[in-house]
Amino acid sequence: MSRGIIVLDAGHGQFGNPYPILEDTYEGTQNFKLAARLKAELEARGFTVLLTRNRIEDDPSLEERGKLAGDSRAVLFLSLHSNAPGSATSKEAYHAVRGSEVYYSLSEDSRVEARNAEIARALNAAVVQTMNTTDRGVKTRSYPDQPTVNYYGVLRHSAAYGCPTAFIIEHGFHTNPEDAAFLSNDECLQRLAEAEAEAIERVL
Ligand SMILES: [Zn+2]
Repeated sequence: MSRGIIVLDAGHGQFGNPYPILEDTYEGTQNFKLAARLKAELEARGFTVLLTRNRIEDDPSLEERGKLAGDSRAVLFLSLHSNAPGSATSKEAYHAVRGSEVYYSLSEDSRVEARNAEIARALNAAVVQTMNTTDRGVKTRSYPDQPTVNYYGVLRHSAAYGCPTAFIIEHGFHTNPEDAAFLSNDECLQRLAEAEAEAIERVL
């Protein structure tokens, strides 16, 4: 019997967000590869896994991605990404910024939100340890006048369609040489998938 449905969302499309340091390497492609490996690891642990991108060239809207989590009654929705500094970052800092952070879904139900924070901490710890990168912590982001409404589209749509247990994992910065080297290596992605699947199994 399945332990529940998990929806994995490989962020962006195939050629979304080129790595500035590595040729022909894209965040959207590396997210897709990680999702495929994480799917296999979770299925081996008894979960049923659905992907928002079944083919690498798929690039559904943020609403379609979140809607799949709600419509399928997923117990967990993970949007897989890597990070890049904001436009205000200085040239000197651009390559230096690195580290993992996890955004979790806000909820009007404080128990749901507290559980989300706990799951986010477990996921972030797995990424920090496996990537041996900086711990940027777990976070939420809301609209200024709507404290329980998620700023990020995938989290907002996931909650609106009925899956409040939703996360964005920023697996380091693809603009940083150390994080980018990790994320562009298939064996490293496999270790990341195993560590995240173990964390999910422990915390769900
Ligand atoms: Zn991204």
